[in-house]
Amino acid sequence: MNNRVHQGHFARKRFGQNFLTDQFVIDSIVSAIHPQPGEAIIEIGPGLGALTEPVGARMDRMTVIELDRDLAAWLANHSSLKDKLTIYQQDAMTVNFAEMAKQAGQPLRVFGNLPYNISTPLMFHLFIYTQEIRDMHFMLQKEVVNRLVAGPDSKAYGRLSVMAQYYCNVIPVLEVPPTSFTPAPKVDSAVVRLVPHSVMPNPVSDVHMLSRITTQAFNQRRKTIRNSLGDLFTPVQLMELGINASLRAENISVAQYCKLANWLSDNSAPQQ
Ligand code: SAM
Repeated sequence: MNNRVHQGHFARKRFGQNFLTDQFVIDSIVSAIHPQPGEAIIEIGPGLGALTEPVGARMDRMTVIELDRDLAAWLANHSSLKDKLTIYQQDAMTVNFAEMAKQAGQPLRVFGNLPYNISTPLMFHLFIYTQEIRDMHFMLQKEVVNRLVAGPDSKAYGRLSVMAQYYCNVIPVLEVPPTSFTPAPKVDSAVVRLVPHSVMPNPVSDVHMLSRITTQAFNQRRKTIRNSLGDLFTPVQLMELGINASLRAENISVAQYCKLANWLSDNSAPQQ
């Protein structure tokens, strides 16, 4: 049998379609989410309903965002789901989650077995809305989960780690092998829980500044920050901020990056 065909649907590579078929993994994800009636549950990429069906069984209603028109139409006709689902046939990258939370009158609980080709930009899109989000559960490439949870002094620690941990508490939940999907992806996967901080541990006055500094530092991760951030900070300024200029990007903690961002916001000339 052609393993790109699942339940009569030809899996589209461009939409990152790898359908979950492993009941143990499905049950584990649903228990990790622990959906309760009345909550504002949003699924990104419901596909053929592997997670939508068990989550939907516990809900009176839920919202799904599915880019593939055929799958959105299939879900709209699904016998047990059709009366419960609000379906957005659209790119999740273009969804205004603040508007959704406003309509729901409560913070959102977002989950999905994400299309791997857009998972990182999609998480950055969701980070904008963390004030409107209670929690997120995502299936991702294991390597991406490793980067999300990584702390300083490790190879996996990078801009994604800093930005994710700036916004959220990041908790790995489960590792998932390629054999749990049809078709099987080429890489290992993992489920992660992201819980936006209710009180920001390292608030910054301008998150764009944090984004800019981390991009610049990690784009030259082999260099010392005296060199990679040399056009933004003098070695004396770094020392005054308690940061050793001879360290590399991967040795600087989230709190220290936030300190650098705040210093720069306070001390750079206003934009014209
Ligand atoms: N949830 C299903 C499962 O676990 O079997 C399908 C997961 S599959 C990895 C990813 C799903 O996201 C597909 O249904 C795909 O069509 C959908 N998708 C891809 N790109 C998307 C986008 N930009 N916005 C919303 N959905 C998207």
